[in-house]
This record gives sequence, structure tokens and C-alpha cells, in this order.
Amino acid sequence: MTDWRARRGPIGVLTGAGISTDSGIPDFRGPRGVWTENPIAELLSTYQNYVADPALRVRAWQARRDNPAWQATPNPAHLALVRLAESGRQVGIITQNIDRLHQRAGSGTVVEIHGNMFEVVCIDCEFTTSMATTLGRVAAGEPDPACPDCGGILKAATVMFGQQLDSDAIREAVHIAETAEVFLAVGSSLQVEPAASMCAVAVDAGADLVIVNAEQTPYDDYAAEIIREPIGDALPRLVSEILGDS
Ligand code: NAD
Ligand code: ZN
Repeated sequence: MTDWRARRGPIGVLTGAGISTDSGIPDFRGPRGVWTENPIAELLSTYQNYVADPALRVRAWQARRDNPAWQATPNPAHLALVRLAESGRQVGIITQNIDRLHQRAGSGTVVEIHGNMFEVVCIDCEFTTSMATTLGRVAAGEPDPACPDCGGILKAATVMFGQQLDSDAIREAVHIAETAEVFLAVGSSLQVEPAASMCAVAVDAGADLVIVNAEQTPYDDYAAEIIREPIGDALPRLVSEILGDS
């Protein structure tokens, strides 16, 4: 079989929280993940609990305020993907991350399949605003700020468990997966669906799947290659190998 590194067509990339741990943002399910160390934190990410429980919303706003992502900067793995695209190779990134580090690194095509933490939406009306504005209200003494238009519940513009994914984002993600010749799954436990199933979509359409993750995933059996090294080392090296300059 030809080495996937020799293929010259589009590269699809699915990234998860593991690509941002080197930027100081803990993942959820890794050995030092937020949920691994504090299983109660999972409640904060479930839509039905968030809507039903004002005390939980207060904790959620505090967790947003204290998120290390506000201070984080892109790391060599994010930058390696930018370098790959700058070489002229077609690169489409599907990210489960809400931290915008791909965009800040300079990547062009990024589908935020789980939304982002920089915007705020109302669950009852069309109101949207920035997270910075809303965290300003929290700091000024509103522990669970309400929608200024309708009085409804505000939340980060992220997709919580129990919420539907945006249909445009799914369509764009499927397009990237279906048209990829090589599909890299980087830093994801591949346990959250439908995001993880993009690996199957890519393989079914003929892509070579390459998994870069410290731990096993449910998609390991489909992979042409599995790389267990730290992502911050592995991704810059893989990009050098793909570009033939290693
Ligand atoms: P996950 O926590 O389920 O899995 C992360 C995986 O990355 C783990 O298997 C871990 O072993 C591996 N990993 C972590 N650091 C690594 C490194 N340096 N080298 C190699 N492997 C490493 O993450 P997920 O699959 O993305 O699912 C979590 C969900 O939570 C996502 O849907 C995402 O929206 C959200 N989330 C986002 C962020 C963020 O934006 N940075 C952070 C935490 C959670
Ligand atoms: Zn509203």
C-alpha cells in the first residue's frame, strides 16, 4: 500500500482538546482532564441541567470567567497546520475545540463543529453578544446575567451535550471528510458523536485515516497509522514529512 504521506490531495483534519493541552487548556477525558479530575464538571456541559438549575448556571459563568483559554496562545501543533496550508496543500480543519486557537494561529478553513466560547447567545430569542461583554456583567455583580431583550437564559455559543449541532457546520464538516485523501484525527478521544464519525465518513470515501492521540480511540482499527507521541512533537514532524523537508 502506498504510504499516505505520498498522497497529494486534500487533507482533512479533525482536532480535539488534546491539540490545545500544550497551550495550557486541559482536555476533558485525558489523564489530567477536567472530567477525569472532577466528574461533577460534566454536569456543567449538559444543556438540560444548565437550563433547569440556576445555581449550576452561576457555576458555569464562573468556569467561563476562569477558563485558561483566555490567556492561551497557539502552540507548535496549531502552527504546523498553518504551515501545511501555506505550502499550497488544501487543508480543511474540523475542530471540536471552542478556543479559536486554530484561527488565531492563522488557519483559514476552520469548521467549529461545537461552536465557540467567544460569543454568547440567548436560548429563547435571537439575541447574541460577546463573551467579554457578558463576563463584564458577571464581574459587575450579575452572577447569572439574563437576556437584555427577553429576560431569557444566556449561554456561551458552544454546543452543549443534549444540544443539536448546527446543520451548516455538519454539512461543511462532512464535505471536508468526504473530499479528503488523508484525514488526520488529532487530540481527540473520538467519543463524542457525530464529530468522531467524520473519521468513518473520510475512510468510507477513500481517505487514509491517521490518528495522533496518546490514548486508544474507538476508531483505531480504521487507521492507516496511529501515532502516540505528544502532539506538539508529532504534528510538526508529520508536516515536515508530508512536505518532504524532514
Ligand atoms: P477529550 O478530552 O475527550 O480527548 C482528548 C484526547 O487527547 C485524550 O485521549 C488525551 O489522551 C489526548 N491528549 C491530550 N493531550 C495530548 C498530547 N499533548 N499529546 C497526545 N495526546 C493528547 O477531547 P475531545 O475528544 O476533544 O472531546 C472533548 C469535548 O470537549 C469536545 O467536544 C470539545 O468541544 C470540548 N473541549 C474543548 C476544549 C478546547 O476548546 N480546548 C477543551 C476541553 C474540552
Ligand atoms: Zn432573549
